[in-house]
Amino acid sequence: MAGRNFLFVPGPSNVPDRIQRAMLVAMQDHRSAAFPELSRACLTGLQRLFRTENGVPMIFPSSGTGCWEAALTNCLSPGDRVLAARFGQFSHLWIDMCQRLGFEVEILEEEWGTGASAERYLTALRADREHRIKAVLVCQNETATGVTSDVAAIRAALDDARHPALLFVDSVSALASIDFRMDAWGVDVCVSGSQKGLMLPAGLGITCVSVRALEAAKSARSRRCYFDYADMAQAARTGYFPYTPSIPLLCGLRESLAMLFEEGLEHVFARHQYLAAGVRAAVREGWGLELCARDPKWYSDTVTAVMLPPGVDGARVIAHAFRRYNLALGAGLSKVAGKLFRIGHLGDLNELMLLGAIAGAEMAMRDAGVQVRPGSGVAAASECWRALPAPAGLGG
Ligand SMILES: *Cc1c(COP(=O)(O)O)cnc(C)c1O
Repeated sequence: MAGRNFLFVPGPSNVPDRIQRAMLVAMQDHRSAAFPELSRACLTGLQRLFRTENGVPMIFPSSGTGCWEAALTNCLSPGDRVLAARFGQFSHLWIDMCQRLGFEVEILEEEWGTGASAERYLTALRADREHRIKAVLVCQNETATGVTSDVAAIRAALDDARHPALLFVDSVSALASIDFRMDAWGVDVCVSGSQKGLMLPAGLGITCVSVRALEAAKSARSRRCYFDYADMAQAARTGYFPYTPSIPLLCGLRESLAMLFEEGLEHVFARHQYLAAGVRAAVREGWGLELCARDPKWYSDTVTAVMLPPGVDGARVIAHAFRRYNLALGAGLSKVAGKLFRIGHLGDLNELMLLGAIAGAEMAMRDAGVQVRPGSGVAAASECWRALPAPAGLGG
């Protein structure tokens, strides 16, 4: 097919040319005297990205899911109780992993389209007088529904309840796109991956572990080996890895971090906010459709889930967008399968790239019989952006 593929799933995101070039390297000896220069650049940059002084960033050869498992098996003992809210496919999958690994999960069920309720976490933590809950899990950005939750409010709930549980945050589709603060929010483990805000191929599980979590890991009795924090932390102190790391991905990560800091993290977040506002304008004002996210306080700046009118099969819209217009949109998962499609807007993006995706989604929807006015999404998004000050990363 002629022309570019328009990749608008919420991960993998587009890899900028600059990062692609940085990854085009010859292999080198990962035990050489020169190697620590590369690993240290990555780890120092990650510490800055996670906004932590003493937290220990780690890079596992996995995807984000591997870091979920690392958090659970390093810090908990068999049968330990965890508290987690469920409001979408990703928060569900982490809970499912907890159960499959033999942990007991107290689940706070929330409607899909809403997020983590700090009040309900507080109630559950207060009720746990014996402190049986050892970890509190929260998915910062639920990629399945386009919902962002307030992690600082969950930390406040832990503090209000004077509860000592560790705080684990899934920031896979938020880190490097939406504000995240390891130290300010008292996060004990943050879990992320390479293929979303970091603009890299999948293949790196990126995580950060607090001193408190490392301490807990010393007495936690779950079995682990490949994902052992102590092995990884020990190796990182020397600038090496306990096993063979992917040199091209590390070179890409170093470049990605350099790009993020050149733009400035605050500017990166502001750009995501600005682009997301345009996508939401296209959906609501342009197309007259609803978001899956129920309320502005839940709106995600990295992914928008668009509800289709009843009777329209979302899977057909997505398949048609791909085959006919070379546009990849995200599908509805599990409970919302067929009912929505998702536009990923994270990473290396500008207005005109997004207008292409909006135009393609509009054409695919019209082909599938959805009564949206031609050009309405593009018009609403472009007018939204024109009315806003341009962010620093986009000619502002
Ligand atoms: C993508 C994603 C994951 C899974 O990450 P993988 O890298 O695919 O293992 C987990 N949580 C959230 C919120 C995600 O968006």
